[in-house]
Amino acid sequence: MRVDGDTNRQLADEQDETATFADLGLRPELLAALTRLGYEEPTPIQREAVPPMVAGRDLLGQAATGTGKTAAYALPVLQRLPDERPGGDPLALVLVPTRELAIQVSEALHRYGRDLGARVVPVYGGQPIPRQLRALEAGVDVVVATPGRALDLLQRGSLHLGGVATVVLDEADEMLDMGFAEDLEALLAEVPEERQTVLFSATMPRRLDSMARRHLRDPLRIQVAREVPTEGQAPRVRQTAFVVARAAKPAALGRVLDVESPTAAIVFCRTRDEVDDLTETLNGRGYRAEALHGGMSQEQRDRVMGRLRGGTAELLVATDVAARGLDVEQLTHVVNYDVPAAAETYVHRIGRVGRAGREGVAITLVEPRAHRMLKTIERVTGSPIHVERVPTVADLRARRLELTRAALRESLLGDDLERFRAVVETLTDEFDVMEVALAAVKLAHEATNGPDDDEEIPEVTLRPERPQRDGDRGDRGRPSRSRSNGGDTARLFIGAGRSAGVRPGDLVGAIAGETGLRGRDVGAIEIAERFSLVEVPEAAAEEVVTALRASTIKGRKVTVRRERPRP
Ligand code: AMP
Repeated sequence: MRVDGDTNRQLADEQDETATFADLGLRPELLAALTRLGYEEPTPIQREAVPPMVAGRDLLGQAATGTGKTAAYALPVLQRLPDERPGGDPLALVLVPTRELAIQVSEALHRYGRDLGARVVPVYGGQPIPRQLRALEAGVDVVVATPGRALDLLQRGSLHLGGVATVVLDEADEMLDMGFAEDLEALLAEVPEERQTVLFSATMPRRLDSMARRHLRDPLRIQVAREVPTEGQAPRVRQTAFVVARAAKPAALGRVLDVESPTAAIVFCRTRDEVDDLTETLNGRGYRAEALHGGMSQEQRDRVMGRLRGGTAELLVATDVAARGLDVEQLTHVVNYDVPAAAETYVHRIGRVGRAGREGVAITLVEPRAHRMLKTIERVTGSPIHVERVPTVADLRARRLELTRAALRESLLGDDLERFRAVVETLTDEFDVMEVALAAVKLAHEATNGPDDDEEIPEVTLRPERPQRDGDRGDRGRPSRSRSNGGDTARLFIGAGRSAGVRPGDLVGAIAGETGLRGRDVGAIEIAERFSLVEVPEAAAEEVVTALRASTIKGRKVTVRRERPRP
């Protein structure tokens, strides 16, 4: 973690690397929620961001998904809610680029703020407005919104921002990319000036910096470290990552373990609950896995370590806290079930293998949305992580056959096979020797591997990295680019254009806010007087049409369909 500026650096120095959530000054209701969720310790960004935010300071944080940034701002927002909240208007506003994130962030706030009775309402495009109006009218403490919908509700007089004490802009670069700059300005103009403003962004383009300069007051700047740590960097570690959807992770882990066949491995998870769940899943799938986390007594932990050292267990599923200081001689593999929250954590974890001249293996499972953090880790450690596809069923079968072949060869070289001669000889009266051998291999193979009933794991590809932008494209200056490198595209007709006040940002915002697409997935946009044309990936065209038909653009229902080919 690097912190800019003199006062900021001093603050960072005071921040103890081992600070607990309680050390961060959080109230008991929040601490209880974190324990319930199985969070054992704050991530680095949380250690840096929580105390100053709790103290009311403005903050400019450069952090990607996977660092724990959501809790880094959600906990202080909740902490600062007054005990008595008689009014119904929001006290905090969190702005996010997409519907997906709005739901996710409001769920996180809801989970952390349960014991405080925090009322959290997400509002985003695509959902019928009346439901959101009812939720707002019922009284709310924190609103999590996409900018377009927030502005819409503000203009209808349904969202009152006069009591907002904290504004958070999350994934701010993404919001600018999607053309929300004007909407953000309009919203910020409605929030009292003496508010606290917090901005999180994965990248810090110039345009964002200038926006921060205008709206943040003496902000503390926090960013992920860029320096390369030399200590703990293990050169003899083969580093591999697999991109998998969350739901496919247990199966993917099983597949990778089957192909790698580690002598002993540690699988790192983020929370106690994840450790318990994954241990159970792995045992259910026939692995000998043991859980290790901070909720266990020393005696329980010693027993687990004994089983790993003695070879009765092959997998240890652990949190960072529980695995701290742990030294296992025979460890061959370290698996990150999620991308670690900080590059330093990654370095610590993989430093446990590749000792004493042996080659170790580090495997990371990456959900598509956390891929940026993987890039950060690569940059910080200065060593490449090879992204590979999860072994397919065919790979796995080939690997199993190879193991059977090796076992047979060993038997041919070493075992006394004479006593089986009579079996083969009687069978050769009826069958060819080759056929007898094939049947014997089949039986041996199935005896060790069981039946071949593996399911295929869907392949996920990473979105290409965002090109390095230095910012100023201008709010309306979305380039009319053609998606030459993005595969098939479809052109959609939208029945509103310049005369209805439609800007490119409205279309990108509507699409990204209401579908799974990101701003950058949207291709060329043409705005004519009465209509607009917009390019989207062919694979997502139907989803976009359905979503846009169900929502409004500039407050109106509009025709949306695929563009008819010109005659
Ligand atoms: P984020 O970077 O905010 O998207 O968070 C990534 C994931 O880490 C989320 O699933 C959080 O629930 C989880 N998480 C955040 N903070 C912690 C923590 N201190 N300990 C364990 N898990 C955490």
